[in-house]
Amino acid sequence: MNKTQTRISLLSILVSSVLLTGCGNTPANTPNSVSSATSKANIEKADYFADNGLMNPVAIVQHPAGIHEKGVTYVSYQGPLEDPYVAAYNHNTETWSGPYKAGNSALGKDLTQPKNIDNHGKPTMIMDNLGYIHVFFGGHGGDKRYGKNELGDTHYAANKHVVTKRPYDITEWEELNNITPFGTYNQAVKMDNGDIYLFYRHGAHRSNWVYQKSTDHGRTFAAPVSILKTKKRNDVQANDSWYAYVSKGHNDDIIVSYDYHICWKRGAGVNGRGHTTERHDAYYMVFDTQKNTWSNVQKETLSLPITREVADEKTLVARTGGVGYWSFNGSSHLDENGYPHIGINIGKDIGKKTGGPKQTSHYRWTGEEWVGGQPVYAQARADGTDTRGDFIINSPTDISFLLGYKENGDGIISYFNSTDSGKTFTKGKELLRREKAGWSITALIDNAHPDARLIVAEKQKNSPWRKLYLVGDNGPVQRVKSTASVLTSADEKHLKTFKKEHALFKQSKKK
Ligand code: ZN
Repeated sequence: MNKTQTRISLLSILVSSVLLTGCGNTPANTPNSVSSATSKANIEKADYFADNGLMNPVAIVQHPAGIHEKGVTYVSYQGPLEDPYVAAYNHNTETWSGPYKAGNSALGKDLTQPKNIDNHGKPTMIMDNLGYIHVFFGGHGGDKRYGKNELGDTHYAANKHVVTKRPYDITEWEELNNITPFGTYNQAVKMDNGDIYLFYRHGAHRSNWVYQKSTDHGRTFAAPVSILKTKKRNDVQANDSWYAYVSKGHNDDIIVSYDYHICWKRGAGVNGRGHTTERHDAYYMVFDTQKNTWSNVQKETLSLPITREVADEKTLVARTGGVGYWSFNGSSHLDENGYPHIGINIGKDIGKKTGGPKQTSHYRWTGEEWVGGQPVYAQARADGTDTRGDFIINSPTDISFLLGYKENGDGIISYFNSTDSGKTFTKGKELLRREKAGWSITALIDNAHPDARLIVAEKQKNSPWRKLYLVGDNGPVQRVKSTASVLTSADEKHLKTFKKEHALFKQSKKK
């Protein structure tokens, strides 16, 4: 597209030329150079697109959090009041729109909420084949206000579904009351024929993982189908529990990688540690949506829902790290042979409630066996710091991870590349570095443009508010600073008041 045709206002001309100048790739003799020279001093740029992300505004598991379609990247995150926000970046005009509030979360508003900021209801986004954008958000297992959960236990708030009023237009949204309120960790998959599958955990920890299927662009969903089963263990004081990552495989397949959570009862657990985030091991299976059958990597048929016993016998990838190591599952993708590669974070249990820091590790199926398991960035394990991220398979031998981590006080987003099928990785291009920052990081944006691969939130200790970056191979996508600064003093004031009142309410309940 001819860029000049799309620039319809003086403002957008100024914006675009300043952005290009900022990237250092505008030749001095372009038609825009005059306006660029005069405006440069006046228009300040930001490398973030919004600054009103709340606490943990994004995560790998709630995905896709962003979609690239017809030259526009749509992004979502958790903003003020834990509500979902959506912005869009047009790669042709180099302009931003939004963020717009897409819906009203049941989280973030009510003093009876167990934690003042819950962080589980982050938005998951998908575009249907008619161009409408759907966002699923706001759930952390449902609660008694929504009736009995037939597929597990409950925690708080309701899973919700909103859709844009018009295709490709994020300015207005409406709520669709067509999914159960018990969902947590939404993951949406659209197949080539337009069918939409919404996967999630149907409640709190002791709940089955399920999917709901829509064949009418998300306007109605069939009842939940259980895929992973929670149940009480007879040998120890715990329940079987799961964390899954679901994404599109080849053709009609959906692929699922998952790890096991031993959900200890209060006061039980190793050395009486009680309930922790103890998780172990990697598993993998495939859903053929055309035949409506499930199978393991060896193509043996599986019956639903999968129990721990069946998972161990039929779908085990690896005992990640061995004894003394805990896991936190990441993403999975297929190579050109249809063989799965799995990213999973593994770290030594050093006695914390979360075990300890975990480092992203890579496994792959060779056609005969699972291999791998070493950390992508070995120094992070030596340093005892976390890494999180997603990965791109360029070929079975050529694999690139995009990792967020902390090093020497800086927060870094960087490529780590392998040319030997994941045996070794070396640090590649650094895309973003911020002093004293931690990160929340999404999975790769669906159908990502190379300039916009993922969304990251910069976590600074002195504030619950986060700057959000759309990061690609040229670093973060820029935006005019005055339009990226969207956090209001009313938002800040409201949160401070809510936190105070929430603490007082909790105290009053203890008495
Ligand atoms: Zn648990």
